[in-house]
Amino acid sequence: MATKQEIRKEGDRVRANTWYAANKERRAKRVAATRKWLSGMKAEAGCSTCGENDPVCLDWHHTNPQEKSFNMIETCRSRVALEAETKKCVVLCANCHRKLHSAEGQRPHQIARELVTAE
Ligand SMILES: [Zn+2]
Repeated sequence: MATKQEIRKEGDRVRANTWYAANKERRAKRVAATRKWLSGMKAEAGCSTCGENDPVCLDWHHTNPQEKSFNMIETCRSRVALEAETKKCVVLCANCHRKLHSAEGQRPHQIARELVTAE
């Protein structure tokens, strides 16, 4: 027999799946627009080390990891939250970003893991 908590959890899961199915296209458009907006900001700023300005090569680097609230890859966040997070970052190209982390003593696999989950 299911507990009240299990029943509520199942209801939450069904509601979330229903919402996701009903809003999948709308959500995809919003995420694409947010990515485009962030890419424009990166291209405009360019790499703060070498000046590269192709957004596909650019990452957000949190200058102080302790101030980091979330990963910039989380495009489901509001633009207000994302813009506030960009203020804690500098734009670096992938090469300069890796060199910076390497100089901080991180090994290549740690840097790659951080980049996948972070910027
Ligand atoms: Zn660079």
